[in-house]
Amino acid sequence: MCTHLDDASNREHGVHPSGHGCAECLAAGGVWVHLRLCLTCGHVGCCDNSPGKHATKHAHTTKHPVIRSYEPGEPWGYCYPDDAFVDELRAFPGEAAARHYDPPR
Ligand SMILES: [Zn+2]
Ligand SMILES: [Zn+2]
Ligand SMILES: [Zn+2]
Repeated sequence: MCTHLDDASNREHGVHPSGHGCAECLAAGGVWVHLRLCLTCGHVGCCDNSPGKHATKHAHTTKHPVIRSYEPGEPWGYCYPDDAFVDELRAFPGEAAARHYDPPR
């Protein structure tokens, strides 16, 4: 059993997304496909289909275990240490993306 996803859904406080785009890609001028939100610190990073794979790199570097999709209409969560998915993970206000954010161009 994955306790990280339980802990994530039982949080008492939400996180503040770091921005409307992958933090590393925004800083370096990179591009992304889809965005993921770290539920430990609010880091927004790009998915594994993106060149930078910054959400996964963030999880490995920081040991923050759980992400939630930061795309509209995608309520799923994922735990890195246990490679566990949940179809719907409760979101605090602001944690669910209102729309898809494209890289600046
Ligand atoms: Zn877990
Ligand atoms: Zn990125
Ligand atoms: Zn984090």
